[in-house]
Amino acid sequence: MEDDATLVTEAVGGNLAAFTAICSRYEVQVHNLALALLRDRKAAWEVVNDTFAEASERLERLQEPYRLVVWLLAITRFRASLVAGPTAGPDRHPLLPETDFERTHLISLVWEATADLLLRERALIELTLRHGLEGANLADALGVSPAEAADLQARMADLEKGLAGYLIMRKAHRRCGDLPLVLRGWDGRFTPVVADGIAAHVSACRVCEEDRHALPSPFSLYASALPAPLPGDDAFERREVDQVTP
Ligand SMILES: [Zn+2]
Repeated sequence: MEDDATLVTEAVGGNLAAFTAICSRYEVQVHNLALALLRDRKAAWEVVNDTFAEASERLERLQEPYRLVVWLLAITRFRASLVAGPTAGPDRHPLLPETDFERTHLISLVWEATADLLLRERALIELTLRHGLEGANLADALGVSPAEAADLQARMADLEKGLAGYLIMRKAHRRCGDLPLVLRGWDGRFTPVVADGIAAHVSACRVCEEDRHALPSPFSLYASALPAPLPGDDAFERREVDQVTP
């Protein structure tokens, strides 16, 4: 299999098969990021098409061909930010790989909770946990300076504690009597302010800390949601038919 830099050189030289190979290699990753950001299958697929269209126009100006995937994810993130609404879209549930009901339920809760975070935080979580980016690669894909990326990576610890508290709150058998007081009047959405409030409580509460360690890591739950199907897969086609059939 040819490496990315070779494919880029060939594609820039006019080899259409090389560009098609780039699309095939990274289509799923680009689609996963677009969907994690937008939570809207139709809009995500449009972002995939826009991303590869832009890539084909700008490929010859790519300075570091071996960093092709980071560059594609940066375009995807930017394209998604152009069409993102103030809140995430309607497709908030992941495909679930597990047959273990309890774990499947937790994955679903984590996935849904992250939909209410800021777009930048959704990008941070997805790029870190599912695409494995860090350092300069993470900064470039997020479109921020390395120092800002380091600050954002530091925020991951709070987001994980916040998500853990969210799971404790949403589970039937929570033991802490104070967590509900922290969340008095809560509408159930995992906004950044709520995430911070929960994280601060969990850090200071022995009972919630114990409950947190008894649960699977929210980040491992997030990462184990299956990649979304590409359009053309049965699940997507059915949904499209449902939408146009009165
Ligand atoms: Zn507590």
